[in-house]
Amino acid sequence: REIQTYRIENPATGVFEKEFDSTSDADVRAAVERAHAAFDTWRRESAQTRADAMKRVADAYDERADELARTIATEMGKPLTEAKGEVELAGSIFRWYGEHGPALLEEEKLDIGDEASSVVVTDPIGVLMGVMPWNFPHYQVARFAAPNLMLGNTILLKHASICGSSAVFIEEILHAAGVPEDAYINLFVSNDQVTSIIEDSRVRGVSLTGSEGAGIAVAETAAKNLKMSVLELGGSDPLIVLDDVDVAATAEAVAKARMSNAGQACNSPKRIFVPQAMFAEFTDVVVTTVGELKVGDPLDQATEMGPLSSIEARDGVVEQVRKAVSEGATLRAGGDALDKDGAWMAPTVITGVTSEMDAYAEEIFGPVAMIFPYSSVDEAVRVANDSSFGLSGSVWAKDVEKAEEIARRLEVGMTYVNEHGTTKAGLPFGGVRRSGYGRELGRWGFTEFANPKLVRVA
Ligand code: NAP
Repeated sequence: REIQTYRIENPATGVFEKEFDSTSDADVRAAVERAHAAFDTWRRESAQTRADAMKRVADAYDERADELARTIATEMGKPLTEAKGEVELAGSIFRWYGEHGPALLEEEKLDIGDEASSVVVTDPIGVLMGVMPWNFPHYQVARFAAPNLMLGNTILLKHASICGSSAVFIEEILHAAGVPEDAYINLFVSNDQVTSIIEDSRVRGVSLTGSEGAGIAVAETAAKNLKMSVLELGGSDPLIVLDDVDVAATAEAVAKARMSNAGQACNSPKRIFVPQAMFAEFTDVVVTTVGELKVGDPLDQATEMGPLSSIEARDGVVEQVRKAVSEGATLRAGGDALDKDGAWMAPTVITGVTSEMDAYAEEIFGPVAMIFPYSSVDEAVRVANDSSFGLSGSVWAKDVEKAEEIARRLEVGMTYVNEHGTTKAGLPFGGVRRSGYGRELGRWGFTEFANPKLVRVA
């Protein structure tokens, strides 16, 4: 059978760091049974007991921020400063559910105008399978684990094969904070083993953050077995600039937003729309800004952009750019791998992408800004919405009322004015169309794998 290798090769150096033993089929079967048995006790703990554990997880994230951030940087190449931001965000998510969980679990008495008592209680549903990506190794897991552990569900987790160390850290932190060992179990499993876990009748749902292909595979198995699923998939977010902005300041901010995490964020502003009249000046500033970014060692505090997560990922992005350019797009900056060991790529800017090119429709999961001129706001909104994805979108302007009105017309799960992709524990996160379904974070992330159970007494 297929075996997935969990192996860390530092993308900044190309040097092999560590390998993890795969979980055997027998251990997978045992893990499902353990998580199933743990559900019975974990769900019966008081809400406050689970909330206190979530707060201790948050404390551990604060205390161990440096080592967690260094691990992220070594595994997938994120610069240390960004990795620290991620660790802080992950901790804040556990804290948010620790603080708000008990209130979210309070039962609701319904007044429907009859004599009987109708109450809705929020029950957990059981063992859940989580499949998570490498681009934010801690934050992605926190979004799924915090609300569900607070609810009383138990978790089997398959992390991305390149971030085994983060996977182990997360498990260790949760257990040390009081989450029972069997209520959260990390597994180094293959895709086939994930399928068998989802098929197991004791497993009640699956949440996947990752690519469309992985989402389809997991959701298909879930559907065949009538299980709930949440999918957080790709995106090709639009960012629309209006004509009243300070061109230089906005172009610089937008360029940096696009290159954050070396462009490897589902909700990165991948398509940038600029009024025709300011297109040349705006693009020049983006080109200058990305040219000045400090690309280098992720462990260096001054670094602004690290390598991509792996050489394969980098080669895929370089190929997408090469193809667009061969079809007639204009390369304004970068475009190539850097000539050194590791998964390096120059920050890239392309213009002139037309609807006939693959780059128009595909997600480019790397440091590539695509800039499009537009002649009317209606045209910008139409092209922004002309995407199979629908994760998030933003509008940038001095006239924030006008910007908000335009942002509301975007067919996405999250819209922003004068920022892009801000994520906080209390805000909903998720998309529409091929960006997936379901929501994470805030009170929305608390209801996906919950049973709002009616208790009625005549
Ligand atoms: P990926 O290849 O889909 O990997 C994500 C996870 O799914 C990994 O754990 C991977 O395991 C696993 N996986 C892959 N194929 C699978 C299958 N057939 N069955 C079960 N599990 C499978 O995605 P990626 O390249 O790491 O991440 C990039 C994608 O994720 C982009 O499209 C990005 O936009 C999306 N993303 C979305 C969000 C969001 O919230 N919407 C957030 C971040 C990223 P292995 O590592 O072992 O292959």
